Amino acid sequence: MLLSLPLRPPDCLGVGVSLGCPVVNTFSYLAAILTLPLHPSLVHSDPDRSELHLLSRLRHLQRFVSLPHPPPFNPSVILKSEFPYDVVVIGGGPGGYVAAIKAAQLGLKSACVEGRGTLGGTCLNVGCIPSKSLLHNSHLFHQAKHDFAKRGIDVGEVTVNLPQMLSQKEKSVKQLTGGIEGLFKKNKATYVKGWGKILNNSEVAVTGPDGTESIIKAKNIVIATGSESSPFPGIEVDEEVIVSSTGALSLKKVPEKMIVIGGGVIGLELGSVWSRLGADVTTVEYLDAIGAGMDADLAKVFKKTLADQGMKFKLSTKVISAKKNVNGKVDVVIQPAKGGPEETVEVDIVLLAIGRRPVLPAGLKEAGVAIDKRGRVITDAEFKTNVPGIRAIGDVIAGPMLAHKAEEEGIAAMEHIAGGHGHVNYNTIPSVIYTWPEVAWVGKNEKELRAEGADIKVGNFPFLANSRAKTIDDFAGTIKIIADAKTDRILGAHIIGPNAGELIAEAVLAVEYGASSEDIARTCHAHPVSPNPHT
Ligand SMILES: Cc1cc2nc3c(=O)[nH]c(=O)nc-3n(C[C@H](O)[C@H](O)[C@H](O)COP(=O)(O)OP(=O)(O)OC[C@H]3O[C@@H](n4cnc5c(N)ncnc54)[C@H](O)[C@@H]3O)c2cc1C
Repeated sequence: MLLSLPLRPPDCLGVGVSLGCPVVNTFSYLAAILTLPLHPSLVHSDPDRSELHLLSRLRHLQRFVSLPHPPPFNPSVILKSEFPYDVVVIGGGPGGYVAAIKAAQLGLKSACVEGRGTLGGTCLNVGCIPSKSLLHNSHLFHQAKHDFAKRGIDVGEVTVNLPQMLSQKEKSVKQLTGGIEGLFKKNKATYVKGWGKILNNSEVAVTGPDGTESIIKAKNIVIATGSESSPFPGIEVDEEVIVSSTGALSLKKVPEKMIVIGGGVIGLELGSVWSRLGADVTTVEYLDAIGAGMDADLAKVFKKTLADQGMKFKLSTKVISAKKNVNGKVDVVIQPAKGGPEETVEVDIVLLAIGRRPVLPAGLKEAGVAIDKRGRVITDAEFKTNVPGIRAIGDVIAGPMLAHKAEEEGIAAMEHIAGGHGHVNYNTIPSVIYTWPEVAWVGKNEKELRAEGADIKVGNFPFLANSRAKTIDDFAGTIKIIADAKTDRILGAHIIGPNAGELIAEAVLAVEYGASSEDIARTCHAHPVSPNPHT
C-alpha cells in the first residue's frame, strides 16, 4: 500500500509562509523520494493523526535514510521582537519548567514564574516524587515484615521509623527541585519567584515573595498552572485528620483506621502506603470498580491483590459526610450508591482523593481566555488558546493529568512557538499505578475498543507462567495485549505485575512505532526476564 494521505494547506501548522511548510515538505520527502510502502497499521483512521504521526517519525527516519532536512527551527524571527522575553511561562511544574528550558534550548529568551518557592510543581513537591518515595520504602518495610522470612532472611522485629522515612522523602524532593534550578541556570532560562497574574496577552504581573510587584513583557504567554485536589462539598480538609494527597504524604503517625474517599490512582497509591505501614485502610468508591480508566479485567485482579494485602473496599458506595468529632477523630457517613441505610464509621484519618481540578491564574478570565465546563483552559492542537499569544499546557488543559503528558506538551508548545512543528501522540501516553504489584497500560482498553466496534484479538499471559516471576517468587499479575485482528497492530497493552511500570515502556515504543504483536514476539529478549507477553 502506498502512502496516500490528505495534506493540509501550507499554513497547516501555523508556520509563516516565509518559513515554508514542514508538513508539505515532509510529505514530499515521503511521497516523492521514498514512495514509502506503508504498513496498513500505520494509517490512522484520523487523517490528521496519520499525518502528525508520520511527521514525528521523519527525524527518526533521517538517521537511516539520507534525506534533505526539513526547514530548521527559526527562532531568530522571534528574537528580533520588541519584547524582552520571547516566552513567559506561568507555573514551574513538569509542564512549565520543561517548557521554559526547552524554549531556552531553542534559542528563545524564556522566563518561568513560580509562586510556591520551589520549582517542580505538584509532581516534585507534593505528587509523583514524594509518593513514589513512600511507596518504595513502605514496600520494603512490608516485604521485610511479611515476606523476608519465607525467603530465608531473618531480620528479627521490623519496625517503622516514620520520621526517618519522611525525611528520606523530603531529601529526594529537595535534591530534585534544586536540580531543576540548576538546569535553569545551565540553560539560561530565568526563574522568577512569585505569583503571576495575566494583565493582557503580552504582560504578566508578578507578586514576589516580599510583596513587590513587577511586570514581565513577553511575546508569548504559556499557562502551566497545573491542578489541585478537588474539594468535596461539605467536607473541610484540615490536612491533619481530613487530608488531601498533600497531607497524606506527611502524616505524623501511622493511623489505626483510615478511609480513602475515591478509588482512583492517587487514593490507591497513598492508601497502599499507609496500609503497608500498618493502617487498617478502607477505600470507598462510588463506582463498582477501582482504578478508573484501567482495563476491566486488570481492575478485578488489582482489587483482589490489594485485598489480599489487607486493603478493604466499599464499592458502589457514596460518602455523605465526614466531620471531625470530639475525640479528634472523623465520623464518616456512607451509604450504598443506589440509596439505602446510612452507616457511620469512626476513623483516625480521611484521605479525600476524588480527583483534581485545574488551577487558573488570576487575570485569565479578564484577558478573555476561554475555559470549558470542567474549568480547563481550551486549547487547539498547537496549545493556543482563543487569545492570540496565550497558550496553555499540562493539567490545566484537557487530557490525562500526568507529569509526562505535561512535559510532552511543554516541549511541543515551544517547538510550535520557535517556528517548527510540535506533536504529542496522545495514544502513547502510558499510565502507571506504583502499587505492588504495579499496574501500567498504554493505548485503549478492551471495553473502549469493543465500544468502537474495532475488530480485535486479545492475548493474555499470566506472570505465573514466567520463569523470572517464579524465580523471584513474585508472580501475581497478568499481561493483556490487544491487537488489530487483521493487521496485528498493537492497539493496547495492559500489565499488572511486578515492575509493570518499567515493562510498559516496550509496549509504548511498539505502539509509537505502529508495531504488530509479532514484531515484539520476534524481538530477542534476555532470559530469564519478566514476561515477554508476545511469546
Ligand atoms: C499524590 C500525587 C501523585 C502523583 N503521581 C504521579 C505519577 O506518579 N506520575 C505522573 O505522571 N503524574 C503523577 N501525578 C500528577 C502530576 O503531579 C501532574 O500531572 C503534574 O504535576 C502536572 O504538571 P503541570 O506542570 O501541569 O502542573 P503542576 O505540577 O501542578 O505545576 C503547576 C505549578 O504552577 C504553580 N502556579 C499555579 N498558579 C500560579 C501562578 N498564578 N503564578 C505562579 N505559579 C503558579 C503552582 O504552584 C505549581 O507549582 C501525581 C499527582 C499527585 C497529587
